[in-house]
Amino acid sequence: MNGAPSPSGPRLGGGPAALRRAVEQLDLEALGAELHALVRELYPIGRSITGEGLRRSLRILGRLEPVRLEEIPTGTRVLDWEIPPEWTVRGARLTAPDGEVIADYDRLNLHLVAYSVPFRGRLSLDELQPHLHSLPDRPSLVPYRTSFYVEDWGFCLAHEQRLRLRPGTYQVAIDTALTAGTLTLGEMILPGETADEVLVSAHACHPSLANDNLSGMVVAAALARALAGVPHRYTYRFLLVPTTIGSIAWLARNPAATARVRHGLVLAGVGDREPLHYKRSRRGDAEIDRAMALVLASSGERHELLPFSPTGYDERQYCSPGFDLPVGSLSRGLAGTYPEYHTSGDTPELVAPERLAGTVRRCLELFEVLEGNGTFENTSPRGEPMLGRRGLFSPGAWPSHSDRDLQAVLWALSLSDGSHTLLDVAERAGLAFPVVRGAAERLAGAGLLREVGTARATLVRREGAR
Ligand code: ZN
Repeated sequence: MNGAPSPSGPRLGGGPAALRRAVEQLDLEALGAELHALVRELYPIGRSITGEGLRRSLRILGRLEPVRLEEIPTGTRVLDWEIPPEWTVRGARLTAPDGEVIADYDRLNLHLVAYSVPFRGRLSLDELQPHLHSLPDRPSLVPYRTSFYVEDWGFCLAHEQRLRLRPGTYQVAIDTALTAGTLTLGEMILPGETADEVLVSAHACHPSLANDNLSGMVVAAALARALAGVPHRYTYRFLLVPTTIGSIAWLARNPAATARVRHGLVLAGVGDREPLHYKRSRRGDAEIDRAMALVLASSGERHELLPFSPTGYDERQYCSPGFDLPVGSLSRGLAGTYPEYHTSGDTPELVAPERLAGTVRRCLELFEVLEGNGTFENTSPRGEPMLGRRGLFSPGAWPSHSDRDLQAVLWALSLSDGSHTLLDVAERAGLAFPVVRGAAERLAGAGLLREVGTARATLVRREGAR
């Protein structure tokens, strides 16, 4: 554990500097192309909250970083919920009176309402209508519909096609099974120097929906792989789970790990062309909320910060009052706000390679802040120490207003009284975190700063002082 203040800066230049190099050396073009190819490969697989499609998808992601699958049996109680039966689809077709196939699971898996019970029969159009789902306001798109916890069956189709259906006898053939099986959770765990955890969660249960689902999954896997190659202080846990029931099951079964979560992020819808949106944790001012705000402000990209709301994705579970974990959520297009959301319009073409890679970059920068957010003490606090003598100041650099590095040196000296973290310094100074961290490392190298603790240790001290 990292509770005790570390001695004078021995680890400086370790994890955060390695992460900085990893960010700087990212080949965004190659990474974007690789992740987009993965999205295209995963797209046609028939995933749901249980079943072989989910397991197969997780195994494919395991090529980037080994993934551990946990299988939870049907009927297991998890918090206020119960693990549902496992759903298997062998095929599903709706055929019109003239023999035309109106909807076919093999052509597009969105055509079948997820968790449809098996059904075979001949129905009139009037009898069929209550089982059909379409979108009058987006008549060319097939919607995504589910019936997870209600026994029902149905087909989804484009509204323009539905309007063309003629009276007559329709054939329904839904060859599915709901059986006692398991629900699968995928985890990638990267042990760090401490047991304190950073949790990254992405839902993995949607069928052919590229942005809302696959983008978060591939970005999470790419982050896990990137972290595997650099030293880090925190233990990182990537959860690839069915939405709602998956995060609830994980929380129910992992109380010890839950207690170790210091920062968390839900990734969803991170591949489309919208700017990044960060929704704060329920706490609103958690370290991750401040770190992400700083990263986005420093990025120079258009972005938006949103207050917490108990809607969206699995942050609803992580931030529920009984857990209240510091978990924020990162998206580009927000759930329910773009026309392709939860429809056949959410194809790999909606996802841009450079947006996937750009999201990876911002998340690594976020980790860089969390990893490097130490607390320092100025060893020469009476008056400014003489910087020129130590090579920290060149006469031409004064006045400092245009020299970010010198500003960072002065701010780090000014605020390093043992109670401010480097994130505090960067916020007060209006500087990007790597600039401040770099200044602190140079000052520590010159013996002018001494690391007295990580952000966590500082927080504990502050809370203890109240
Ligand atoms: Zn969704």
